[in-house]
Amino acid sequence: MRLILLGPPGAGKGTQAKMLKEKFNIPQISTGDILRQSVKDNNDLGIKASSFMNLGQLVPDDVVIGLIKKRIKQVDCKTGFILDGFPRTIVQAEKLSETMTEMGLKIDKVLDLEVNAKEVISRLAGRSTCSDCGGMYHEVTCPPKVSGFCDSCGGVLAQRQDDNVETILKRLEVYQESTAPLKQFYEKQGNLKAVTARGSVEEIFSRVLEMVK
Ligand code: ADP
Ligand code: ZN
Repeated sequence: MRLILLGPPGAGKGTQAKMLKEKFNIPQISTGDILRQSVKDNNDLGIKASSFMNLGQLVPDDVVIGLIKKRIKQVDCKTGFILDGFPRTIVQAEKLSETMTEMGLKIDKVLDLEVNAKEVISRLAGRSTCSDCGGMYHEVTCPPKVSGFCDSCGGVLAQRQDDNVETILKRLEVYQESTAPLKQFYEKQGNLKAVTARGSVEEIFSRVLEMVK
């Protein structure tokens, strides 16, 4: 099973991708996670990417395309994968199609997680992540038992650098301009499925499962 998760920042792509990964035992490939790890490691990729990310802008297409091409050729992707945060531009989508064709494979479904801008801002601005296990919290909807620390592993919770209101607005603008057109792109290919991304994580996941069945 080869899936793409589309949707604005804060739609819950990462959360749903993790749940799909566990359910179907296929890798979750998040360009955002790969880039953030590279920034942490301070390697060439991270150095190149960090200024774009901190401004809420997209990292250049050739950088992320190169990264994905390499990643989907690894053995653990043989039985499938979930793309989370890629593609984000038409050029990325076209290159992905090309690569998939070369590999004799195709994308089975593109799930578009739909949520409105107002909801996105409050979700992202209140969000924090465990720096050890990646667990996600929200100051209003899902606060940790002890402020600043992860319930499950005790790790320190951190806010993403790009989760401030100014950068969130920029990310939304970039989404509208560069990423939203992918909906038509995949609609034409006939594999786009819209999923309402409101309600609890479990509710959304059951809608997601309906669509991938
Ligand atoms: P979100 O969807 O919440 O904005 P991500 O973790 O997917 O978060 O991405 C964070 C940042 O990483 C983006 O704002 C962008 O700078 C960069 N990024 C991630 N994926 C891509 C991509 N496919 N193309 C270009 N830039 C990307
Ligand atoms: Zn944790």
